[in-house]
Order: sequence, then C-alpha cells, then structure tokens
Amino acid sequence: MTSLTPRLQRLRDAGYRITHARAAVLKALEQAGGHLTSAQIVDAVAVIDPAVGRASVFRTLDLLSRLSLIRPTYTEGSGAPVFVLLPGGHHHHIICTHCGRVFEFENCGLDELSARLEANSGVHIAGHLLEFYGTCADCTASSAASSREARA
Ligand SMILES: [Zn+2]
Ligand SMILES: [Zn+2]
Ligand SMILES: [Zn+2]
Repeated sequence: MTSLTPRLQRLRDAGYRITHARAAVLKALEQAGGHLTSAQIVDAVAVIDPAVGRASVFRTLDLLSRLSLIRPTYTEGSGAPVFVLLPGGHHHHIICTHCGRVFEFENCGLDELSARLEANSGVHIAGHLLEFYGTCADCTASSAASSREARA
C-alpha cells in the first residue's frame, strides 16, 4: 500500500485495519472537502472502488463518526445528515438560517474550554462541532430592501 493519509494513519493507530471501504469513504470525503450526504458518499465510493458495497459504506460512516474522524451534521438542507471532516478534531460553521449558506472558519479558540470540560466531566474529548446561526449580509440587505418596497 502507498503512504497513508493522516486520517488513515489515525485509523490504523486506533487499531483498525485499512479496508477498501474505509480508504474509499475517506477518499470520497477528502476529495470533496467533506459536506456530503451518505447518498453522495455511496455514489462517490462507487466511482473510487466499485467493489465496495453500500452496507460497508454505512458501517464505515458509523465507525469513522465514532472515532471522531468525521461527524454527521443535520443543519444543511433536508433531513439527511451531511458528513463533515474534523481536521485537527474540530469543525466550525456559521449558518444563515434564511438562505442556508454555510461559512467555514478555522480558529475557534476553544482549546482551553475543551480541556476544562474534559477535566470536569471526565469525558475524554476527541473533538467538537461548533455552529453559529444568524442572518448573512446578503439576506439582511434583501430583507431591508423588501421592507422598503412594502412601505413604498
Ligand atoms: Zn443568507
Ligand atoms: Zn463545514
Ligand atoms: Zn474548534
């Protein structure tokens, strides 16, 4: 096998074999930069490695979520969860609740909080998903415009 990506290395370090399904699911998510539904992952995996079946994709998504390599998030669009990667153990969104746009940011400054929560709860914290909600600049501008129209 060629050299392992950091995520495959973490999988192996956690004591798991690198199966075709595990490699293909991570590759599908990494190629897309995350933000795929399980249906989209099934489609992408079918292209990357047609031998990997749908059931193994779903088992792999469960395993990778348990290991905090990925997380399902339910905020983007329909009822189907969207899987995101947790680079460095965390992932952050600012979501416009009007148009559904998702802004990403990297530095959350939550290391200290995370350490404190771990100390207080006794839970070994492997990562976090952080989401802020609000109205984006475009939606704020267009709702200001439409309320002007309504008054006119
Ligand atoms: Zn918006
Ligand atoms: Zn994201
Ligand atoms: Zn963070």
